[in-house]
Amino acid sequence: MKITVLGCHGSDAAIGHGYTRQPCRSVGLLVNDSLMIDAGTGASQLTLEEQLRIQYVVCSHLHFDHVKSLPALADNLVNQDGHSLTVASIPSVLDGLQRFIFNDSVFPNFFALPDHRRPLLMAHPLRVGEETWLGEVGITPIEVNHTVPTVGFLIRDHTVAWLYSGDTSSTEEIWIAASVTPNLKAAFIETSFPDELQSLASMSRHLTPALLAQEFHKIGQPDLPVYAYHLKPLYEEQITRQLARLDIPALKILQEGQTIVL
Ligand SMILES: [Zn+2]
Ligand SMILES: [Zn+2]
Repeated sequence: MKITVLGCHGSDAAIGHGYTRQPCRSVGLLVNDSLMIDAGTGASQLTLEEQLRIQYVVCSHLHFDHVKSLPALADNLVNQDGHSLTVASIPSVLDGLQRFIFNDSVFPNFFALPDHRRPLLMAHPLRVGEETWLGEVGITPIEVNHTVPTVGFLIRDHTVAWLYSGDTSSTEEIWIAASVTPNLKAAFIETSFPDELQSLASMSRHLTPALLAQEFHKIGQPDLPVYAYHLKPLYEEQITRQLARLDIPALKILQEGQTIVL
């Protein structure tokens, strides 16, 4: 399974200076060129041809940094020969997208346009704890602990599986499910704030490096490759130093533009 990182941060910003200056983009992962996990970044990193290959967008929750590329994708794809895009998530997220974004005020309702019988965006409800196959990729949403209804995902094809935590604070079920998932090859776990901002992390239900370690150990596979993501750009250096001190041998920080093949 190929995972292309279009964006992997907890916000948008440029960090560094001169030659070290680099963009940070909100989370958007492209799987096998045809399925997106979250859409905080998408259209801006892809040509029209690449956007036309996307068939599914799977959203973990409604926070803007995870859905804000959907309007641009819709705008680009609407007049492309009857192209349609399946948007899959838990029902409250699908409902929120239609009520708050694609509501004909903030943005046109592409769940009914260009033709309500063949709309561009097609809502596909996912049930928590149940696997749904979207093309060649199986997705199991599992509730995690965030300020709004949020799911993480176990994602697999017929040979490998990986975990995507979604935005979460300390939680249980997704780690238990991961621990019994066959051929689990990697865990993508959010790490938004440095340890000093533990109280902000608790309030906004996110993880710090210390909490990442605590949560990761619940999977019970100490050598499993871990990719930390959703770092808030302003704290990237601090978080990076603190992650490096953890006793997790295969821990890396997910990088913008990186491609991972599992
Ligand atoms: Zn987020
Ligand atoms: Zn969030």
